[in-house]
Amino acid sequence: MKKIIIIILFLVGCSSNSSEKNIPSFDENSAFQHLLDQCSFGPRNPGSEGHERFSEYLESYLLSLSPNVIVQEFSYLEHLTETQREGKNLIAQFNLESNERLLLGAHWDTRSLSDEDPDEEKKSLPVLGANDGASGTAVLMELASIFSKNTPPIGIDLVFFDAEDVGINGKPYTFAMGSEYFSKNLPIEKPKSAIIIDMIGDKYLKIPIERFSYRINPEMVKEIWSLANELDLNAFEYKVGYEIYDDHVPLWENAQIPAIDIIDFDYPNLFYNHWHTQNDTPENCSPQSLQQVGTLLLNYVYGKVTK
Ligand SMILES: [Zn+2]
Repeated sequence: MKKIIIIILFLVGCSSNSSEKNIPSFDENSAFQHLLDQCSFGPRNPGSEGHERFSEYLESYLLSLSPNVIVQEFSYLEHLTETQREGKNLIAQFNLESNERLLLGAHWDTRSLSDEDPDEEKKSLPVLGANDGASGTAVLMELASIFSKNTPPIGIDLVFFDAEDVGINGKPYTFAMGSEYFSKNLPIEKPKSAIIIDMIGDKYLKIPIERFSYRINPEMVKEIWSLANELDLNAFEYKVGYEIYDDHVPLWENAQIPAIDIIDFDYPNLFYNHWHTQNDTPENCSPQSLQQVGTLLLNYVYGKVTK
């Protein structure tokens, strides 16, 4: 009698699960503290004391984490007030040896007017910018700390843009003066791609795909939103939303850097908006929202190990 022995060979492939990659975790409370710290300077609109003092604070913070910090100063016409102003983009670089470079950007300035506030008397007041200004900057500040301790597998250029929120409503090209200057006078080697984050602190965070991003870099959009889905980051919605003029547009139009924008414009929802009002305060933001975006970016960057 013959025995038939069936040997089943299991082919174990080299999987690239995120558990096998060394992905640092994102500290949401530390990130939220960066948001609160920025708000403690008061409004940070160009020309204000808060703007001046926070730029000094941010510069020394970055210098404590990276030996490669670039301060890009520039002059521009603030169309909103017809004032000539001085601006400051701050750049912190990590893993300079790598020539595959990703730009991660956010604007650090806030708006000088609450022109969307429903209360007429409040329209002339500057915005605190807990979400519009501080949230993206807070996530990048936390990432700077992480990159300083865990060298990223690709080159990272963190760019803190000034003078994003200085424009006249309905005239997009009067906004984003910092990224306009940056993209026409690149102070760093041109990165392969870019991700801008803006208004990502909303405690009811929902991030659809920004329309312009999908047009100029659909591959990266698919990669980012699929990754969010894999990681169960449910703030990310796999649908195309508004087209928004943000710092990613000058990067593409002037320097052909394929850039995408991660933004939640409906703050907090479709029917009511704290954007450019006196209600853009920390109470309307949350650490968990910063966590969603921070976790996504860390997985994207450190996941590049095996891609
Ligand atoms: Zn704004």
